[in-house]
Amino acid sequence: MKRTIADGSASASVASELNDAAAGPHTAYAPETILDAIGSLERAMAAQTEWLKDWHLSVVCRNEGTDFVDSMAESCPAGAWYHGDVPSVFSAHPCFKSLGERLDRMAAHASLIARKVPGGTSLSSEDYSAFMNTVLDFNGLVQQIQHDTWEGLYYVDPLTGIRNRQHMGRDLEAERHRSKRNGTSTVIAMIDMDHFKAINDDHGHQAGDRVLKGVADILMGEMRLYDMLYRYGGEEFLICLPNTGMETGRSVLERLRQQVEKTAIDIGNGRSISVTATFGYAPLIGFETVENAIDAADNALYEGKKKGRNRVNAASVVGIG
Ligand code: GH3
Ligand code: MG
Ligand code: MG
Repeated sequence: MKRTIADGSASASVASELNDAAAGPHTAYAPETILDAIGSLERAMAAQTEWLKDWHLSVVCRNEGTDFVDSMAESCPAGAWYHGDVPSVFSAHPCFKSLGERLDRMAAHASLIARKVPGGTSLSSEDYSAFMNTVLDFNGLVQQIQHDTWEGLYYVDPLTGIRNRQHMGRDLEAERHRSKRNGTSTVIAMIDMDHFKAINDDHGHQAGDRVLKGVADILMGEMRLYDMLYRYGGEEFLICLPNTGMETGRSVLERLRQQVEKTAIDIGNGRSISVTATFGYAPLIGFETVENAIDAADNALYEGKKKGRNRVNAASVVGIG
């Protein structure tokens, strides 16, 4: 406890809205999910380049377009990828629908040319250039989506699959402004696992890792779509509950605490254990800075530990929230 907020968020690019657009703002993808998804897209795009070469050889160089006339939007590798089983890492991207529109435009131009050319019409530079522009548009958007996806990897904690602190400072600043602007309340809570060192000592570090992942899953499962969860560090998490006053915050956090307490977590080799956590919470806009609010929640957590752990403890702020 008692740390300062990571500042990596300040340099974070706004292009990383990929995770925000997924099942909810707090949703993040496990690194292997992201890498698998990027791999599938890269393979499709490599095949697309080969396909395009064949298209040029056949339609532009030999004046044979018949193979390419129909349903290119589905049949070319990029089209097959787009209309196939696309990982949600991509399908949830805000630009995914636009990608389909660009694919359709590219296919329409390719079909038009593939119909005209074998019929004896020479390929005009306008037609050709219009087609190639649709190809470049499509490729450009694919690159953008890929870039955002790589960025998503930077913000994910590999152990738990939830966001790390790199994302947190930026999100909390944005939430603080939003909350102030709209006159709403937001609660932030620090969560620290109780006697976690003993869990490692008794069951091994790997079991400890499984517990951290298990607790992250429990918390995620209980949160609303627009709540945010971060691994703050070690065995500590931070939750942000937008549009939530202190009283409601307490009952939400109490529910989370109980859920952690009553869920047996599988630690491997057929064993499972129960764990507890202590929560300290504070109003995000009740303090001068985000850092101050985090400190207040952290102090409340510390008090909660002193009071006996496994409890939800409010920061001592009067009349705000
Ligand atoms: P308290 O109830 O006062 O919070 O006690 P505690 O044992 O949880 O607190 P302490 O700070 O003494 O120990 C935290 C432990 O969490 C020590 C550290 O090794 C462990 N830990 C931190 N990060 C990880 C991790 O990624 N994996 C595992 N398995 N353990 C971790
Ligand atoms: Mg700790
Ligand atoms: Mg602890």
